Amino acid sequence: MNIPLVDLTAQYHTLKPELDEAIQRVLTSGRFILGPEVEALEREAAAYCGTSSAVGVASGTDALELALRACGIGPGDEVVTTAFSFFATVEAIIAAGASPVFVDIEPLTYTLDPAQVEAKLSPRTKAILPVHLYGHPCDMGAIMRLAQAHHLSVIEDCAQAIGAQYQGRRVGSFGTAGCFSFYPTKNLGAYGDGGMVMTNDARLAEQIRTLRAHGSNARRYHHDRLGTNSRLDELQAAILRVKLRSLDHWNAARRRHALCYAQTLRRYGLDGKVRPPHEQPGCMAVYHLYTVRVKQRDRVQQVLEAQGIESQAAYPSTLPAQPALKPLLAAPVAVPQAEAAARDVLSLPMYPELTAELIDRVVAQLARALAS
Ligand SMILES: *Cc1c(COP(=O)(O)O)cnc(C)c1O
Repeated sequence: MNIPLVDLTAQYHTLKPELDEAIQRVLTSGRFILGPEVEALEREAAAYCGTSSAVGVASGTDALELALRACGIGPGDEVVTTAFSFFATVEAIIAAGASPVFVDIEPLTYTLDPAQVEAKLSPRTKAILPVHLYGHPCDMGAIMRLAQAHHLSVIEDCAQAIGAQYQGRRVGSFGTAGCFSFYPTKNLGAYGDGGMVMTNDARLAEQIRTLRAHGSNARRYHHDRLGTNSRLDELQAAILRVKLRSLDHWNAARRRHALCYAQTLRRYGLDGKVRPPHEQPGCMAVYHLYTVRVKQRDRVQQVLEAQGIESQAAYPSTLPAQPALKPLLAAPVAVPQAEAAARDVLSLPMYPELTAELIDRVVAQLARALAS
């Protein structure tokens, strides 16, 4: 039996009666875009993350772009961000019209290193965009201190980290805005695309409501500014409301599996060869991905694949090394920690329904790959 990186069918089977009821409710209601389900999800998700407002949008990428635009960030502005993330992080900055400025990562958590931010600030810097990568919270204390000292907005990319906590508070509630993705494989996944912006700034929330609906808000066919079409639909919202009730339970299962992986790696004597993820004190990670460091990553991945075990190099390249960015960057960017991570990282199967037995099979094959 193969072991997938994520299993998206298991949750449907567990929640089938409630999910089917939610879908039927929307189909019979005749409301499909931005209706009562979206409004209810916005209230429930804001309460979950500990913010006063939430705005549903079409994707995590749009959540980032619209949050930046609502903060007044655009052409001529610089946004300081991590060199190691999914490409959407930097795409959103460029789509908003601003320029990304890359900072290297902390090697233990793979998140933006706050100690290297100050050297990258310029009079054009308007925001810091940290990414809670793999579900591990960034050092939000240090980032918020920097932002306050330099009057910068903070846009948190929480696409991989819904429910993660930094010093007892959920990510997405620290910065000016927190941006979430409901892409099916994320910790809270829809059955299609979806995203959300959380904020404690009611005016910012109103701006995003306007931007997501063609720059029009209270008055129909009256457009205050140029926006876009980035709405969340009622089906996805109804599905997400059901799933949100299980999120803490699923994240707790991911944390148990992370512990089990670490114990199993030790049991197989692999702790010297395979570096498991590290959790910083004061942080509660939600393991969107379970990412280890291993030499000869590509060869190891091939051995696992031959044994029916899916794994993923997330990410095999730093952001500044992506071909699409070449024409936009004035000079090559030196980010040695991100480059080392891009060479060695390997994400192993991780989803709430994983079992100790499956973890044992993954690690046994990892041991075989490293012995050969
Ligand atoms: C998934 C992801 C996004 C984009 O979310 P979409 O909903 O797919 O647009 C942005 N940033 C990170 C770090 C992600 O993992």
